[in-house]
Amino acid sequence: MQWDGELNWLSQLSGDKELEVQGSIPDKEKINLTKDVAERILETSLVNSVREDKVVWEEERNGCYSVKSGYKLAMRHIIGSDKYHEVGNWNGIWKAQAPHKARHLLWRLCRGCLPTRSRLLERRVECTLICPVCDEEIEDELHIFFRCAVARDSWCAAGLSSVLHNVAYQQTNAMDRIFAVCSNESSDIVGRVAMLLWWEKPALDCVKCNVDVAFVSGSGRTSVGLCFRDSSGQFMAGMTQWQQTVISSVEGEA
Ligand SMILES: [Zn+2]
Repeated sequence: MQWDGELNWLSQLSGDKELEVQGSIPDKEKINLTKDVAERILETSLVNSVREDKVVWEEERNGCYSVKSGYKLAMRHIIGSDKYHEVGNWNGIWKAQAPHKARHLLWRLCRGCLPTRSRLLERRVECTLICPVCDEEIEDELHIFFRCAVARDSWCAAGLSSVLHNVAYQQTNAMDRIFAVCSNESSDIVGRVAMLLWWEKPALDCVKCNVDVAFVSGSGRTSVGLCFRDSSGQFMAGMTQWQQTVISSVEGEA
């Protein structure tokens, strides 16, 4: 285990020395040095640019603490070895070509912390279990994102039905399905899946149209997909089209 902190010498220089790190370090982590070694360390002059000791956070090049590096350290030393660690293709989620909000949704889904009705009931929130969209089955992650009739229509409208129905992705829980998709599909496809799952309903009496444009490199083709859904998330209409020209994604989506 590494630590950072100011180094202090114990005041008495007779006999063996202890190098002590400020803070609450267990005795067994103190470093015992012989008098000879301790004196040689004390005689070592500091480089000119260093005038006094200061606290340095080793995990960052600039020596300053950041939540990101603190989190990484925690993952390495604490979570990496305890019961909360979930084995899975987490990198596949973060490499997805999608906005962070969409990748974050995938992460929350795989960590089991989305407030589906079945999760809420597990945490003793009083609610009915039935999916409010289809009013037929229990609302859990697998149902709301993969099995509900509205979800299936959305996968098809987004041009992702081959991913939804791929026999390699029929695991019994949503987390394993997402990890399987991350491991077998390109970051572009994982990104499109993330955006599909993240989708937000439009305001009441409004219709939302999502547009996506794609290019097949070398083919000179540009393809366009559109999907219209109402304020309940119900699929209304969709279309796909391609043209023999290559335009920029900004022009295409405009
Ligand atoms: Zn449903």
